[in-house]
Amino acid sequence: MILILGGTGEARELATRVPAISSLAGRVSSPRLPVGEVRIGGFGGVDGLAQWLRDNDIHAVVDATHPFARQITANAFEACEWVGVPFLILRRPGFTPVEGWHWVDSVADAARYLHGSRVFLTTGRQDLAEFANCPQWFLARMVEPPEPPMPQQIEVLLARGPFTVDGELALMRSHGIDVLVTKDSGGEMTSAKLEASRQLEIPVVIVRRPPLPSAETVTTVADALAWLSGVTSR
Ligand code: NAP
Repeated sequence: MILILGGTGEARELATRVPAISSLAGRVSSPRLPVGEVRIGGFGGVDGLAQWLRDNDIHAVVDATHPFARQITANAFEACEWVGVPFLILRRPGFTPVEGWHWVDSVADAARYLHGSRVFLTTGRQDLAEFANCPQWFLARMVEPPEPPMPQQIEVLLARGPFTVDGELALMRSHGIDVLVTKDSGGEMTSAKLEASRQLEIPVVIVRRPPLPSAETVTTVADALAWLSGVTSR
């Protein structure tokens, strides 16, 4: 049996191509569910995941989690090493960089070095607290309603991609946005805001991805399938 660590479009696509158990963290109240068997909720750290891999007779793990889901990827790498289960990271490429983007190493740095007065913030609900002491006005888009702490001046927009360039242009114009703060998540679903920012000549502050563990890594579902067929035919 194969375990897919999910929460992304790539994970859902992989689950349509290979029999597997998909795992979701359970952060979203109505998640887009992958086809096939699904389990929801944390494993209880590295120990819990290692035990779960043994109990469920898992032969390979594909970590197709979000590029900023750092903890689960680190845990899965370690647990697979312990148990001796082949481990692959499937990560979509980052956004194609545009000259002039201001790159930062963390969301905290994005908040620290923030210029502008009307911010379009798309880093997600879990990172909102980092901006709690910022004096700017925020349009913050996320999937689930946030909890405090958060910026004092904020309009929350609950929405889930894909987004279009026309839609992003209209949104940014109507809210008088003068800076975009986002993460280098990559993918087509959320890239329209970057094109809209380019057209409107709005500065972009973009958070670099966290480093990956030294595991085998691919960027496409096709390459993950090729790896799986190699592993399962051993
Ligand atoms: P994280 O910080 O890397 O993980 C925190 C803890 O959540 C993990 O230690 C694990 O708990 C549990 N967990 C995370 N992903 C899991 C999964 N797929 N299956 C079972 N348990 C999981 O993760 P995060 O940044 O909070 O993201 C949570 C999930 O949302 C991920 O699956 C990711 O793919 C998805 N997501 C994240 C972002 C983002 O910007 N971070 C954006 C879109 C989607 P235990 O230690 O108890 O096992």
